[in-house]
Amino acid sequence: MIERTTAPDAGVQTGTGIRIDGLSKTFSTGRGRTVTALQDTHLHTDQGSFLALLGPSGCGKSTILRILADLESPSSGEVRVDGKTPHELRAASELGIAFQDHALLPWRTVESNIRLPFEVAGRSVDKAYIDELIGLVGLTGFEKSRPAQLSGGMRQRVSIARALALKPSVLLLDEPFGALDDMTRQNLNLELLRIWTEKPATTLLVTHGITEAIFLSDRVAVMSPRPGRVKEIIEIDLPRPRLPEMQRTPEFHELVDRASELLFGADGRAAAEA
Ligand code: ADP
Ligand code: MG
Repeated sequence: MIERTTAPDAGVQTGTGIRIDGLSKTFSTGRGRTVTALQDTHLHTDQGSFLALLGPSGCGKSTILRILADLESPSSGEVRVDGKTPHELRAASELGIAFQDHALLPWRTVESNIRLPFEVAGRSVDKAYIDELIGLVGLTGFEKSRPAQLSGGMRQRVSIARALALKPSVLLLDEPFGALDDMTRQNLNLELLRIWTEKPATTLLVTHGITEAIFLSDRVAVMSPRPGRVKEIIEIDLPRPRLPEMQRTPEFHELVDRASELLFGADGRAAAEA
């Protein structure tokens, strides 16, 4: 079930989905010093699939996502999604992005925050679609509320709705529920699954939650730090739709064990790092 990343083309169709080949990223931190955030990273997914990046902090998860989002440029290597560069995707408004920090504009209402991408892209506002998205993320009735009037979970729902506003083909989520309590997070993961099923997009979710990575994804890329790289890809061959009770099956536990072993080592040595 585990596929080595040294054979990046094994079993996947070429040209579509995320294609990251030989990606390295070095940051200079002043006085001639550098940090290698990513080294020779390969990562391939199919169009419309759900991929989670799992790993301890500092292993380069956000760097991969920021490169895909065209917010950083690679030091070397190739990055394409559905044959397009991050810059091309961004120019075509094909990217939907949500980060841990919801980054909503505090003076704007829910509705007007979700409208923002239309304004930035210079597109005419699709009011009916905005209403549909508000319904999709369960915020009907809160259209005129401002971020300060909402709970943390509700704000993250707004930022997911905003990420979906322009019907992106690629969805990039960087620990969108990372700052929330476990219950809220579980609920929002289920919501995310439902939304992804209704509005399919090639999705990359950064997380350090093993259970949620396995529960949501088609593939989990387990990363290791210093230098950051993809250690192994775990294929999650659990059936869809995914139901919460699946988390109690032996198959699920086996996947969790496998990911834990990759992250922490068989003896749990690296546990303190996660
Ligand atoms: P993760 O998201 O897995 O926690 P990041 O991708 O944020 O990891 O960071 C990977 C490594 O790159 C870390 O060592 C981090 O300190 C470094 N790094 C990330 N962004 C920058 C930057 N803009 N300047 C310098 N170093 C950076
Ligand atoms: Mg990060």
